[in-house]
Amino acid sequence: MKRNRKVKILATLGPASSDEAMIRKLHEAGADLFRINMSHASHDLMRTLVQRIRNVEAACGRPIGILADLQGPKLRVGKFADTTVELKPGQTFTLDNKEEPGDATRVFLPHPEILESVKPGDRLLIDDGKLHLKAVKCDGKSIVTEVVSGTKISDRKGVSLPDTILATGVLTDKDRADLDAVLAVNDVDWVALSFIQRPEDLAEVRKIAKGRVGLMSKIEKPQAIERIDEIIELSDALMVARGDLGVEMPLERVPGIQKQLIRACRREGKPVVVATQMLESMITAPVPTRAEVSDVATAVFEGADAIMLSAESASGQYPVEAVATMASIAETVEREPHYPGIIYAQRAQPEATGADAISLAARQIAETLRLQAIVCYTSSGNTGLRASRERPEVPIIALSPVIQTARRLSVVWGLHCVVSSEPTDLDEMVNGACRIVVEEGFGKPGDRIIISAGVPLGTPGSTNMLRIAYIGSDGQTGI
Ligand code: PGA
Ligand code: MN
Repeated sequence: MKRNRKVKILATLGPASSDEAMIRKLHEAGADLFRINMSHASHDLMRTLVQRIRNVEAACGRPIGILADLQGPKLRVGKFADTTVELKPGQTFTLDNKEEPGDATRVFLPHPEILESVKPGDRLLIDDGKLHLKAVKCDGKSIVTEVVSGTKISDRKGVSLPDTILATGVLTDKDRADLDAVLAVNDVDWVALSFIQRPEDLAEVRKIAKGRVGLMSKIEKPQAIERIDEIIELSDALMVARGDLGVEMPLERVPGIQKQLIRACRREGKPVVVATQMLESMITAPVPTRAEVSDVATAVFEGADAIMLSAESASGQYPVEAVATMASIAETVEREPHYPGIIYAQRAQPEATGADAISLAARQIAETLRLQAIVCYTSSGNTGLRASRERPEVPIIALSPVIQTARRLSVVWGLHCVVSSEPTDLDEMVNGACRIVVEEGFGKPGDRIIISAGVPLGTPGSTNMLRIAYIGSDGQTGI
């Protein structure tokens, strides 16, 4: 299955998309990797979803990435007897410590430390700020609030407290248990860390993860932006988590921060995902708004590695349409005459490494000679990342003998990953590259490709050679 775009699509799974047939439809419609939201998924459900994704992967023959998103110190209300209740501005609404279903007057807040910390006058922003409550009376066990704006609240909605000071580390007890469960499955490629505030937060998680998963930092706190360079250095990828970011910071700062984060990640060659409300109206409608189409297009023009669907694919009425819409916006934008100029204006200078120099040269040669594809052998994934960092116009085929590498690279801009055995000599390397380019639909006999690899073959971190090859008339060997 060949995608006609460079940007990747990350789709969140949820009640609307948990069965295997639906996961397959989403993958076929364009989802390159899937997010399991640990705020909502039990350990059993997480394991089931991982298994179903792997079944789809086996059936479709393409490596699929799996991202487990840890909730982090995100506060949520409990559940309601009727799922959703209507509220009116001016009315009173209470959050308390009673573990009972909520109604139009109250709801359970399962965070005793918050009930103790909130002071009268503090704002409580619910559901990404859609509901604004103001604390009027606090006795340590309950917070009586007045509804300032907003008209409804439903099960497990998030609560932000921009005025309240909370001393919590990045991994809650729930996160630790979730991370253990995710690592135990030993089949998840990325873990997303919510509400990262300091580089030290990452160091802590890195010790536990021990390289078994890539770490994606969700940038949704002002404190993280202040130390963003150190955070990027310690992360394997970033997510521009616009939902909470837009609650914690003035909304109008989000577009500028998105640009800043994408640029910084592209400079470092670390994947960056743009997330939240990209096609929000498609939760309940089969077509997006003009503004949403423009938002997705902006992320594509900025050169983001991946764009994400949240409720659109997890709980909306049109999950397949949402993925298909995102894919078709991306394909169309990438064919616009202005796209190359805009994306290359942000191209980062190569760093002084063999992989960077080779990747730059591969792109230049491919573009000068109008070659069909760049093929890179990458076992750790690093050469794949450096090839993508060049944002070349031609397709990049990343060949890896390690399935985990192919899956992890599924989030990376422009990489078509294929698992292939490690070549033992140069002929095998050239033949393998030519055969896979043909098999995967990127070239035909007579086309030329460029191959990057490391000699001696099979030595990680040794990318040091380039070879231009003709695909032979049998489509199986190169000349
Ligand atoms: P969430 O993260 O959906 O887990 O809250 C994304 C965001 O905050 O934008
Ligand atoms: Mn968030």
